[in-house]
Amino acid sequence: MVKKEYSKLKALSDIASIDIDLPFETILQNILRITCVGMNANSGTMMLFEGDEKVLKMVASYGLPYNYIELVNEAREKAGVTLTSSPSGVVLETGKYYLVPNVYEEPRARPWMHLAKISGILSQIFTPMKRGSEVIGLLNIYMAVPYQFTEEEIDFVMIAASQASSVVQNARLCSHLRDKILDLTDYKENLELNLKRSETRYKEIFENAHDSMYTYDINGYFLDVNKTGLEAFGCSREELIGTHVSKWLTPESFKLFLDLVSKIYKGEKLQQPVMIEVICKNGEHRWGEIRISLIKEGDKVIGTHGITRDVTDKIRLEQQLIEYHKKLEKSYEELKETDRIKTEFISIITHELLTPLTSIKGFTELLFDGTSGQINEEQRKSLEIIKRNSDRLIRLIRELLDVSNLDKNKLGLQFELVSMNDIISRAIMDIHPQSKTKEISIIQNIPQFPHIWGDKEKLMQVITNLLANAIKFTLPGGMIKITGYEDVNGLNICVTDTGIGIPPDKVDRIFDRFYQIDSSNNRRYGGMGLGLSICKSVLEKHYGSIRARSSGKGSTFHIILPKLVSQSGRILTTDR
Ligand code: ADP
Repeated sequence: MVKKEYSKLKALSDIASIDIDLPFETILQNILRITCVGMNANSGTMMLFEGDEKVLKMVASYGLPYNYIELVNEAREKAGVTLTSSPSGVVLETGKYYLVPNVYEEPRARPWMHLAKISGILSQIFTPMKRGSEVIGLLNIYMAVPYQFTEEEIDFVMIAASQASSVVQNARLCSHLRDKILDLTDYKENLELNLKRSETRYKEIFENAHDSMYTYDINGYFLDVNKTGLEAFGCSREELIGTHVSKWLTPESFKLFLDLVSKIYKGEKLQQPVMIEVICKNGEHRWGEIRISLIKEGDKVIGTHGITRDVTDKIRLEQQLIEYHKKLEKSYEELKETDRIKTEFISIITHELLTPLTSIKGFTELLFDGTSGQINEEQRKSLEIIKRNSDRLIRLIRELLDVSNLDKNKLGLQFELVSMNDIISRAIMDIHPQSKTKEISIIQNIPQFPHIWGDKEKLMQVITNLLANAIKFTLPGGMIKITGYEDVNGLNICVTDTGIGIPPDKVDRIFDRFYQIDSSNNRRYGGMGLGLSICKSVLEKHYGSIRARSSGKGSTFHIILPKLVSQSGRILTTDR
């Protein structure tokens, strides 16, 4: 008796000490085996409510054919009943054990009767496995002979079922926890992977950024730097890491940097970026716009992060521009002074020359007229040469005077109503001796033009100058045509010659001051390259224009002079 009691107690203790780390099926098998052995029973089964649906399933068998559970399920399906329609249903209803002294006399066992027969089952005890008042499964023990279960045996199975219930629950909890731990491990691994990826991505961005990027510790020592940063300093990583930021900045920039850092530490609002001057390893100075931010671990500041954009090229360009501007200003001042001296010089010289020349010309004319006595042919010729040359000189001096007056804006135009027809006729008449000498014919075809508002003398000078040039640059026997027409632009006057022509690329330049196509012409034809520039200025002061055209042989100078316009915009055709 004592031995029997001992083996039951041992069985209960064995159930309680089943290793719940074992696979769940093995745990169930062990419970069943220990209980059956403790009861001296032939076989047994265990049923549990499983899944979210809480369906009662047979989960373990002992001492029965290996496919017993399969056969039970087949039989249940064939009979179209649930497992709870077996005696186990009574246990679920009452929450108490249920005895089947003889399977063959138990109507609830009918669907499985044939299985009892082949498995050698005759008597059965069905006991509930409980968690509190809830039945979580059944522990069933089968005898191969007709058997009357004693009170102690029933108590033992009940206690074994209760122990089994705890073990099952603990094992389930353990398996649940294990799943959770596995999930957490997966989660952690995922996190670590993502962290690694983020770190790699950050490193890539950091390394390949176009701007220099640095990290400093709280004392201002370099902790890290990217490729661009090293290029900016012109040093290796080893030469920079661990050095103090003050080593790489000018004293003023270091002060600025400290100020920036202290403000950012205090949480003050910052005006970023700030311009700093960096001293590179080779002593070269570079400029950068820096932005800094704090690096924190939780609430603790562990350093600063700086991003610098190199603006050296911009700064150098600005400096060059300032210098260039200063030089330009200086040159402009020098030029202004030179110009003032030149204008003053021209005006002095011209006055100094013009006065004696005018008297030379006057006295020559007196001698030429015979007022001071008869002159012979030879003297007449000599006087003619003096007269012609003093005329030429006076013309040149007048041109110089005009230029100087134009510069001083003191051309002193006398505006009045003038007739271009009269001006052209007079100019042709005046130039006649020269054209005659070179046997150049001047053909005039000018319609009757309306009067215009202009300076008679200056307009006369323009036409004379064009005619004089035409004669000058045309071979003897050539021809000059002076034609005109009126259109919306005003009075159009063209002076065309059959002379040497003007190369196309020089056509616009001939209006520049002192410009001559071939300076050797200066000797051959005379002149200083001022006539056309004066013509242009005079015409512009009349709101007119002048253009030259040349097809290689001969040239045409085209003048446009605006007509009189009333305030209402109507063209005034003032009577001639
Ligand atoms: P210049 O007193 O030297 O003639 P201009 O200003 O009147 O100065 O003319 C400038 C230059 O334009 C001349 O030296 C000459 O080379 C060219 N030029 C002017 N008129 C003519 C023309 N009718 N035919 C060819 N070349 C001309």
